[in-house]
Amino acid sequence: MPSHLPTRREALKAAAAAGVTVAMSRLPQLAAASAPPAPAPKRPAAPQSFAAKASMIGMPISITPLARQDLDALFDDMRQRAGVTAVFPFAYTHEPHRCGVPPAAGFHGGNYGIPHLEYYHDTPLTYADMRAPEFGDVDVLARVIPAARKHGIATFAFFLEDNVRPTAVPHWEALYTVDHHGRRSDRQPGGPCHNNPYYQAFTLGLVEDYARSYELGGIMWGSERQSGLLNALNLSQSNSVDPGQTTCFCEFCQKKGRDLGIDVERARQGFGEIEKFVLASRAGERPRDGYFTAT
Ligand SMILES: [Zn+2]
Repeated sequence: MPSHLPTRREALKAAAAAGVTVAMSRLPQLAAASAPPAPAPKRPAAPQSFAAKASMIGMPISITPLARQDLDALFDDMRQRAGVTAVFPFAYTHEPHRCGVPPAAGFHGGNYGIPHLEYYHDTPLTYADMRAPEFGDVDVLARVIPAARKHGIATFAFFLEDNVRPTAVPHWEALYTVDHHGRRSDRQPGGPCHNNPYYQAFTLGLVEDYARSYELGGIMWGSERQSGLLNALNLSQSNSVDPGQTTCFCEFCQKKGRDLGIDVERARQGFGEIEKFVLASRAGERPRDGYFTAT
């Protein structure tokens, strides 16, 4: 055991001093005031090829052109006209616009690569649930990766979480958030619940599957969520969010809340009061003391 553990103040002082040292070493004109001048080290300029490799020009892309078009011509065009060095296909999605098709009732979507079931455990989703059927037997990732590489383009599987619950895949329902009225979410501001162990297991399986099954440049995971309070107050990326759909009150979030000492029922009542407040304001009912706003 060390004989003296630094206090918070001492630790901050040390960190600040270290920070100043680093900052001053990068600003010779300031360092000169407190340190003897030292000859500036001569550094060779970075070779141009290194600079070019250090930057990436990436392009998110829906699935349909990757499944149907002449990829050689497509990637040549991307490379020549835009200097693209990486493509980010929406490799797993149940939302038609990310697949690149018009909205349609019963759209299925899913994994546009092949799900390898050995990587998926403790999830209610089956192979048929996960495998996207829109392009028959085409494994879009297997089609894209070598074709892109020929043009110096790396492939990053882009897994952007769906907010809209896929009605064509009912097993997803148990993975979605629950609002403060106890209803399962089916759209913004809800989505799959990050505290749901079955969703965690699915995500882990998908990432491991992609990482082990395909020679990807990388994986990009996207989750566009805000807190329940911001959603209830309509301070969200989506307009006119229903303040009655504040999440999440699923069994797993309730347990996590209780374990953290949160009174779940009080929180539920609080969101109910916010819901009434927001709906009243939308109906033009002004509070007695008005609203405080800052811009
Ligand atoms: Zn939850």
